Amino acid sequence: MSDKLSRREALRAGALFAAGARAALGQERANRAGRSPSEVLRQFAYNQVQLAPGPLQRQFEENHSLFLNLSEDAMLKPFRQRAGMPAPGEDMGGWYDNFAGFDPKGDFHGFIPGHSFGQYLSALARCYAVTGDRETQAKVNRLVKAYGQTVSPKFYVDYHLPAYTYDKTVCGLIDAHVFAHDPTAAAVLKSATDAVLPFLPEKALTRPEQAARPHKDIAYTWDETYTLPENQFLAFDRIGEPRYRELAVRFLLNAEYFDPLARNENVLPGKHAYSHVNAFSSACQAYLHLKDEKYLRAAQNGLRMVHEQSYATGGWGPDEAFVEPGNGKLAESLTTPNTFETPCGAYGEFKATRYLLRITRDSRYGDAMERMMYNTVLGARPIQPDGTSFYYSDYHPGGQKVWYKDKWPCCSGTLPQLAADYRISAYLQGRDGVYVNLYAPSTLEWVQDKIRCSLRQSSEYPYDSRIRLDVTAARPAPFTLHLRIPEWADGAALWVNGRRGLVEAAPGTFAEVRREWKTGDRIELEIPLPMRLQPIDAQNPDQVALLRGPLVLFALGGEAPAFERSALLAAQRKSPGSRVWTVGEVEFTPFPEIQAERYSTYVKVG
Ligand SMILES: [Zn+2]
Repeated sequence: MSDKLSRREALRAGALFAAGARAALGQERANRAGRSPSEVLRQFAYNQVQLAPGPLQRQFEENHSLFLNLSEDAMLKPFRQRAGMPAPGEDMGGWYDNFAGFDPKGDFHGFIPGHSFGQYLSALARCYAVTGDRETQAKVNRLVKAYGQTVSPKFYVDYHLPAYTYDKTVCGLIDAHVFAHDPTAAAVLKSATDAVLPFLPEKALTRPEQAARPHKDIAYTWDETYTLPENQFLAFDRIGEPRYRELAVRFLLNAEYFDPLARNENVLPGKHAYSHVNAFSSACQAYLHLKDEKYLRAAQNGLRMVHEQSYATGGWGPDEAFVEPGNGKLAESLTTPNTFETPCGAYGEFKATRYLLRITRDSRYGDAMERMMYNTVLGARPIQPDGTSFYYSDYHPGGQKVWYKDKWPCCSGTLPQLAADYRISAYLQGRDGVYVNLYAPSTLEWVQDKIRCSLRQSSEYPYDSRIRLDVTAARPAPFTLHLRIPEWADGAALWVNGRRGLVEAAPGTFAEVRREWKTGDRIELEIPLPMRLQPIDAQNPDQVALLRGPLVLFALGGEAPAFERSALLAAQRKSPGSRVWTVGEVEFTPFPEIQAERYSTYVKVG
């Protein structure tokens, strides 16, 4: 074979190049111009991404409506009571109430009074940012003002978890400030911070460490102080008071957590799962503010260690604790029905992976986010108006979706926050263009180098392998579209205006399509959805989950029989387009499709 191209081949190569096959060169150019190694991808504003009807938008609308209609007097009641003010309205019940104990029906009240107020406020502020709904903004403004009137150190006297509740309140107030343009949120945050300071320990605590009592009126033995820094850094960014940055630094959990994680020492076993994943977001904010690589290494290593002990669904932390890796403990954990704290865990995972994706541009963080979304939180039952909530996913054989025993738990706070965040997780902005991270029917509008552009995504993914993206641009606009190709998607292919093979779609990367885009340009992406088997851990290779693309398929019924591997891999759709697959007599379906049926996450192979 000659090294020289024939004239014909050279002409064809030239034509392809001219037609826009500039992947290699484009990448070099992008590396030189737009994508310096230190670039951190930016989030789009909430209203730049509109979700088309589908499960993500439905979950958003359900939560928006629920919290828009929740009684303001009820939400404010524990704060007014603890301030000695008139407190009209009903008790909300469950964890939220001021007075602890059981009612005649046996329902528990008052675990952490008012704990999730800040999360409901945050969710409403984000809902306003998405929709521009004036009623939602007005409710945020009224809640901030009324909460502000209750702020006093008295709230924290004999209070179970001061840092835990204060952190959520901070999140609500800074979201009200920036997303709902609330005029008083910054001042209310200042007084709320003054009020809590005497009740915070000197430095970050880790469970179950016994803390010295920082105040004569407080008797806690642990508190989740290590999740504080993320929102304190954000408060510093949004409000500009140096005090918040100082508090962030003070509560970084260095010696017991970030230091060993940065050295790649696995200190996870036994730790409370959600809050320590949430702490990775504190580490990411610390990296962004302090420019200390230690925090980035800690977050990356820590999340990798979490993923190494995750279920096929992406869930982790049976009974809310991390297990020792490498000795079959994950398989042993399938005896508990409290397998994964779903809304909180998914919220923590989304935030940590979004930070790490923005910082590293490693597409595998997007893979993890996608896996978590489809297999856990999108299948959570909606919160009921009385606060009845979905909390644990149950992975034990013959498990079921159940309601949590107490009303208004932590998971009722994170679900509405996450439902608003799907859109800011779907697309991210780089200097050279747009990263498409989640595949869901939606439209992104943005300005690329002063040119108004939009990208419309349509697909039935992950039930169908085809994704279509249509571009509009006010005038021809040169930029790069980065499309996440999941690591398991061998054989992925990409068409630009109907032409295949101009750009490589390598699994585990972002495919880069750089060209001068004009209205009418389109990309079609084929992500193969192979059936795969994933053992629960290395010690139990015969206990497997069946996956199709990103979806775990759960075996319906009581305990499933043993299967041949080849039979599982040959699972067939019940009918064309069905969301049920069959293996012999047994039906399999993804988590969001499960209602009251019993199911098994893992099955035995013989
Ligand atoms: Zn929770």
